[in-house]
Amino acid sequence: MASNRRTFLAATAVGALAAAPPPTATVPRPCPATARAALDQLLAGNRRFAAGRPLHPHESGGIRRALAAGQQPFAVIVGCIDSRVPPELVFDQGLGDLLCTRTAGEVLDEAVLGSIQYGVEELRIPLVLVLGHERCGAIAATLDHLRSGVPVPGHLELLVAEIAPAVHRTRAVPGDWAEHAMRAHTAWVRDVIRADPAFTAAHVDAARFDLDTGLVNLLP
Ligand SMILES: [Zn+2]
Repeated sequence: MASNRRTFLAATAVGALAAAPPPTATVPRPCPATARAALDQLLAGNRRFAAGRPLHPHESGGIRRALAAGQQPFAVIVGCIDSRVPPELVFDQGLGDLLCTRTAGEVLDEAVLGSIQYGVEELRIPLVLVLGHERCGAIAATLDHLRSGVPVPGHLELLVAEIAPAVHRTRAVPGDWAEHAMRAHTAWVRDVIRADPAFTAAHVDAARFDLDTGLVNLLP
């Protein structure tokens, strides 16, 4: 990621070796500063990841010290807790780049929405990306529950209740029910965020991560 941010961080990192940045220092608006540029950077990083050629950017001690005074991530990722879909790795980004909320099946609740709002309003992040993925366990658990009728225990009830509408909507669609339900649910989460006046300052998209290829593709 070339750009002013890179230059700033490099310069600051060198300076940080001699002296810590003052407490009032802030990290300037990074490039990318627009939603389109943010999305391009995410997808470019994902292509590196999928090709097995990640850069693992922004992980050095210098970057860490430069960011100690403040953060200015360029995208909010609303993703699943699945251990195979860590956003920083999937998008080949590093420290200070992404603000991530992760719940099973990227289910929303007030804590998640408040966290997204913090990113959009306080940190002025231009892009929110909802990231669903292939063979999601939360989707599979909801399908199993609806097929079997067996109640889900404890806190899992919330997850099933949030995912069930998308599962119902896709019941009659030919093909892979779990895949259709995942796409419908991910798009629905995107639409909920889009419709919320708290997030009008940001562009909101949805995408699907393919476990087999490692590629992320936007959902319609
Ligand atoms: Zn999942």
